[in-house]
Amino acid sequence: MRFTQSSLIVGELATGQELSIPVYRLPAQDLGAPKVFIQANVHGAEVQGNAVIFQLMKQLETMDVQGEVTLLPLANPLGINQKSGEFTLGRFDPITGVNWNREYLEHHCDIPAWYQQHSHLSDTELYHDFRLMLLAGCDAHLAQSWGVTTGKRLAVSLQKLAHQADIVIDLHTGPKSCKHLYCPEYDQHAASYFSIPYSLIMPNQFGGAMDEAAFCPWWQLVEYAASQGREMTVPVSAFTLELASQERIDMKDALVDAMGILAYLSHRGVVADKVEPVAMARYGCLLADYKKYHAPKGGLVEYLAAPGVLLKAGQPLANILRLDCYGTQEELTSVQLAQDCVPILHFASASVYQGTELYKMMTNIFEL
Ligand SMILES: [Zn+2]
Repeated sequence: MRFTQSSLIVGELATGQELSIPVYRLPAQDLGAPKVFIQANVHGAEVQGNAVIFQLMKQLETMDVQGEVTLLPLANPLGINQKSGEFTLGRFDPITGVNWNREYLEHHCDIPAWYQQHSHLSDTELYHDFRLMLLAGCDAHLAQSWGVTTGKRLAVSLQKLAHQADIVIDLHTGPKSCKHLYCPEYDQHAASYFSIPYSLIMPNQFGGAMDEAAFCPWWQLVEYAASQGREMTVPVSAFTLELASQERIDMKDALVDAMGILAYLSHRGVVADKVEPVAMARYGCLLADYKKYHAPKGGLVEYLAAPGVLLKAGQPLANILRLDCYGTQEELTSVQLAQDCVPILHFASASVYQGTELYKMMTNIFEL
């Protein structure tokens, strides 16, 4: 095995055992090549990313890898082990209710002041010092005297590794979902390398997720520099890949997604081997046009619209069955939408309260 293995300690259980995450690393051959950080399974039920990391490692073993690659499968030991009956919960911290992927640190850095102090530096020196500032922010947060929550300790420990990389990829899945990815607007062209048909194009707004934590501060820095007449490129790329549905391992499909990631890493010069992206139609949608459809009533749901398939206005989306209303007009309600869209994912359960987020849809899609 070419990878070194170590552990990242991210907490302690009540009984004293340490919570640890396996860390696999390939060292750089060329220190000028981009560094990569990939993690999987921060949401407990979203296990397919682990299979993708496995396939990625098998491929990388035989490749000419130039840049340092750090891989963290099983990146949330508490979430992954939070079982209830036959299902995995693990989307929210059970103590605080906070989504595990909204815990990353926003640095609240005074970019104008920082830039004024460092503007005499070259781009490379500026990037270097900015990275140190982000890492120091993570360290200070973890060391604060009032302590940090379980979720923040996990997230900021991961974020520290992510800040050391130039390419950050966070592997998730939807509940019942087709493949899609979150891609920052400045990096749209990157979407044409992954084996993923649908991309959500993100603005420069921090909502607490890993990808945003990795790219937002850099994007802010570059935008501020531009306002001062200095053109720089955003030196960090960060994506969240949603690899179809949760509670699913598919090794063949994992290889497809590993090859998509390798096509991107090949394009970026992380691996010297030439890996071509899969030829496929790829579509984008602005995050503002990514709509949630909430159940108009409670009941039992027959999901009719398949994720990833264009749904024309007026075509059936779902049926809602109400046995308490048998014999009335309410017994079976068909729901439709008034505009064309692509359903990307739907709720995993067939029983819903009124207001449950039933589907998420891309609207106003365009070809990438
Ligand atoms: Zn997720």
